[in-house]
Amino acid sequence: MKLGNRLALITGGGRGIGRAIALAFAREEALIVVAARTREEIDRVASEVANQFGVESFGVECDVANAESVLAAFAQTRDKFGRGPDILVNNAGIAESALFVNSDERMWERHVNTNLGGAFRCTHAALPEMIERGWGRVINIASIAGKTGAPYISAYAASKHGVLGLTRSLALEVAAQGITVNAICPGYVDTEMTSRGVENIVAKTGKSAADALKAIRKMSPQNRLVTPEEVAALALLLASEEGRGINGQAINVDGGTVLF
Ligand code: NDP
Repeated sequence: MKLGNRLALITGGGRGIGRAIALAFAREEALIVVAARTREEIDRVASEVANQFGVESFGVECDVANAESVLAAFAQTRDKFGRGPDILVNNAGIAESALFVNSDERMWERHVNTNLGGAFRCTHAALPEMIERGWGRVINIASIAGKTGAPYISAYAASKHGVLGLTRSLALEVAAQGITVNAICPGYVDTEMTSRGVENIVAKTGKSAADALKAIRKMSPQNRLVTPEEVAALALLLASEEGRGINGQAINVDGGTVLF
């Protein structure tokens, strides 16, 4: 019962890492808000959470790249629960790959506006109430691409580096107010995002899917993909009371691919 009665809003909670975090938090008795664009997916996870753990849950349509949509989602959350979230997980994200010379302004804007702008908007909507209550947790799902670069992902990596800048600065601003702000930096995780990456490699290089996946696995010294549940386990620690001393950190879950 690590999160008994805490209200957690998880962006991108409709599948993948966000879904695993919703389930891990619900197991510890948090109330759950699942926020993403695809109604069918958010409803499915909200029901899964309620059916498995008997906690109150709510699916809300939200496009984190759009300020009005974020404000509307927070307003609906307050209507439903009478307050905003105690725990905000900024997990919604997109990843496309292209040579820098083939990356256009729209691709750049999509990444910065979703991955970094989304974290800004949702945190901006959640923080005043956390400050008022003197308790809060902001958990940003960044990436090891927030710490290091790689070919073909300049827009993605730039947006994730930005997430770490936001995390570190805000963590210091609210440190004395009972709020922690941290980032999790996964390596490749076994989700649809990685499957789409594999498809992209196949389409662009003519490699087989098996070879593309093998190459991705080999990027980890553990020669495997991280599971969404491993990322969720760290998110749970950061969200819990026991995690209150961890602040302003960007913690890798990558099997040792990046050692800083
Ligand atoms: P998925 O593609 O499986 O899921 C992404 C989630 O984000 C979906 O629920 C999607 O829902 C939501 N989302 C995307 N855009 C928006 C938007 N504009 N507004 C609201 N929700 C949005 O990805 P993962 O679960 O793998 O990734 C989750 C996070 O983890 C991302 O930030 C990603 O960058 C990060 N990460 C992933 C890694 C991996 O290898 N998979 C590695 C490192 C970091 P919908 O489309 O319905 O809106």
